[in-house]
Amino acid sequence: MKILIVEDEANIARFVQLELEHEGYETKSVADGREALDEALANDYDLIVLDVMLPSLNGIEVLRRLRQNKQTPVIILTARDQIMDKVAGLDLGANDYMTKPFAIEELLARIRANIKKSVGRESNALVCGKLKVDIDSHVVTYGSDIIDLTKKEFDLLVYLLTNRNVVISREQALDAVWGFDFYGNTNVVDVYIRYLRSKIDDVYGCQMIQTVRGAGYVIRD
Ligand code: CA
Repeated sequence: MKILIVEDEANIARFVQLELEHEGYETKSVADGREALDEALANDYDLIVLDVMLPSLNGIEVLRRLRQNKQTPVIILTARDQIMDKVAGLDLGANDYMTKPFAIEELLARIRANIKKSVGRESNALVCGKLKVDIDSHVVTYGSDIIDLTKKEFDLLVYLLTNRNVVISREQALDAVWGFDFYGNTNVVDVYIRYLRSKIDDVYGCQMIQTVRGAGYVIRD
């Protein structure tokens, strides 16, 4: 089991690393947000312990960018008074959080629980009815058919599926898929929803992606 520790406070990082290695985990420790994102995207970790306050790219932003490509379990570390970090982290798909200062035994217990949960999940695939999205291989299938999606269509579909049963506004989809640095019109989301429907709903006669008037879009089970 490989765990990535992302923490810029050297004492905490070292302590967590020693404890995890003592428990038999393989670990790598990085202190910088951008470096952490590169590391997490380039390698397959079983879990990431991610501090929020980091140099170059904060933990929330690391998580947001990571989730565009990978569903590696993430436990975020937040300061006691940073409630918004906790909320933003969970919204963006953090699997769990710990408030600093924390007891190492609790962190270890949460790591065990989250790894167990993720191992029980089908090999990094999102499934909704006959639709299956394999996050690692980027292959999308409906029954036995392979659906050919562009990068943005794929990202949007993954975002909708990871937020299943939650109505996503155009702004949220825009932030998650196109990034905060995208200055275009939110209409681009509608356009890509149409592309997805033309490739999935229209072809298979289902209504996978639903419009919620005045609110946005949702994929329901
Ligand atoms: Ca920090």
